[in-house]
Amino acid sequence: MEFGNLNNLAISVAKQGPTTISKASFPLRYGKYSEIKTPEYEFRFNLNGEIKFIRGLNMDWPHPAEQLKRTDGNDWVYYSVGDDSSEKGQISWLGEYYLPCLPYSSNSIWEVDYFANPGVMNAFAAWSQLYANLYGAKKDGLHARAKDLINQIIKNDDQTLHERSQKLQTINAGRVSVLPPDTRHVDYETIPLMIADGCLYHCNFCCVKSAKKFQTRSQNDIIDQIKQLKHFYGPNLENYHSLFLGNHDALASGANVICTAVSEASNAFGFASQHARTPFLYLFGSVASLLKSENDLFEKLNQLPFYTYINIGFESLDTPTLEFIGKPLNTSRVQAAFQKMLDINNKFASIEITGNFLLGQTLPAEHYQSLTATLSDVPVSSHGKGSIYLSPLKDSPKKRELLPQFMQIKEQSRLPVFIYLIQRL
Ligand code: SF4
Repeated sequence: MEFGNLNNLAISVAKQGPTTISKASFPLRYGKYSEIKTPEYEFRFNLNGEIKFIRGLNMDWPHPAEQLKRTDGNDWVYYSVGDDSSEKGQISWLGEYYLPCLPYSSNSIWEVDYFANPGVMNAFAAWSQLYANLYGAKKDGLHARAKDLINQIIKNDDQTLHERSQKLQTINAGRVSVLPPDTRHVDYETIPLMIADGCLYHCNFCCVKSAKKFQTRSQNDIIDQIKQLKHFYGPNLENYHSLFLGNHDALASGANVICTAVSEASNAFGFASQHARTPFLYLFGSVASLLKSENDLFEKLNQLPFYTYINIGFESLDTPTLEFIGKPLNTSRVQAAFQKMLDINNKFASIEITGNFLLGQTLPAEHYQSLTATLSDVPVSSHGKGSIYLSPLKDSPKKRELLPQFMQIKEQSRLPVFIYLIQRL
């Protein structure tokens, strides 16, 4: 719905993109949103009137397929097309056509300081200018819906957006320090519901762990979060169709806690009534929680109206490497969990278990030998399920130099293999 011009601004109050997010080499557009265009920039807002995307339309802008996205954690992430768009480049490395450049320290192989790019800085300045123009605009002749949109946008100034991100952390009682790699399938747009804290291993190498011992949250806590999250997302809730059960090992919470949380959240967030599309459920698990989980849990998950991704931190199949990184596991435990991943992926149509392994120049050669041997030996019956994510060690120097090693593993693997870029919410 377009409402003409206000001081050279083209205002579209209600735009509808595809409801599901597809892999595309052009800028992602999905769900319901509003848009304001100037001759030089395109600004998109979610259904709460919060700025969500900015894209340059001028010669300053680095690339027409690139854009800035603001997350629910109030981080501005720059979506770059990367420096290699061939089939062996960007899409092969990440499984996506874009590279998320993060404004905080992560384990990225690519060091891209987009804040240093004048075109991107000008876009932020243009957003501030647009906000000021909307604030001071005379809206007398405007259609009521355009006025409403502008009033909503004005309410969401920088301070308010910051406070909302803090509010999300308060609801979850902590920030989500890392999202499962599988959330890339929904462009990391997922509702975080914490059902447990801490993890079982507290590995030395890990840069996202919390100091807490593993503990499942009470049912009251989970129900209270759901109520608050529903209120927090407000009208924009309808743009979400995925749920992340946190934190680092939600699988260890067991069938009852998981299924009750999913059922309550599903009713509250309207997932149960999304007949046109299957919502996604994401959670992390560990080798111990995967091995301990009984068939009954997977039967129950498979019956949920979700497609469920469970991401397991294997890290290595080599005992000395596991000792080196400070993970209290051994080869036989990891092998058993890896085999269980394959079995579950074969048996349950609506469950996909994926796995993480480490990449790093300091890791022993045996780590790579055992990993390559295992991945090249997977039976073909895996139906393409069970992506393997290789996560560069955060402190590994020269991360870009890890790419040839990554490609070597990928080429020999019978499972899909991608780089795992640690992203927070
Ligand atoms: S890798 Fe997983 S299990 Fe190990 S400390 Fe980090 S979150 Fe915990």
